[in-house]
Amino acid sequence: MGSNLIMIVVKLALAGGLMFFLYKDARARDYSWFMWTFIPVITIFTPELVTTILTFLLILGMYLMTRPKGALISCPHCGKKVHYILAFCPHCRQSIKRECLRCHDTVDWDAERCPHCGSMNLTKF
Ligand SMILES: [Zn+2]
Ligand SMILES: [Zn+2]
Repeated sequence: MGSNLIMIVVKLALAGGLMFFLYKDARARDYSWFMWTFIPVITIFTPELVTTILTFLLILGMYLMTRPKGALISCPHCGKKVHYILAFCPHCRQSIKRECLRCHDTVDWDAERCPHCGSMNLTKF
């Protein structure tokens, strides 16, 4: 009975920790975060600790292999973590890229001039 309780606590901790990590990371990358947040629930229904840990590692490995690669930056509007390639923040929905008004290329938010044509005429918002 006592070891059963420990097992349940361990499973909930593993599932909860994984759900929390996947939610934060997938949301920042705008990558099916709803699905990834609920997949770790499977670990609660595994019969033994060995299978629980294997399922945990399998889900984490699958996520890390398939998620959009690249660094996370801070959103200039809400400050939350955002995948650098996104044009809009998945948290506050505001634009996190500027547009060059001369060549219409996308420019990073903190850039002073367009890296393609050198124009300083960028959109402000
Ligand atoms: Zn934001
Ligand atoms: Zn330009």
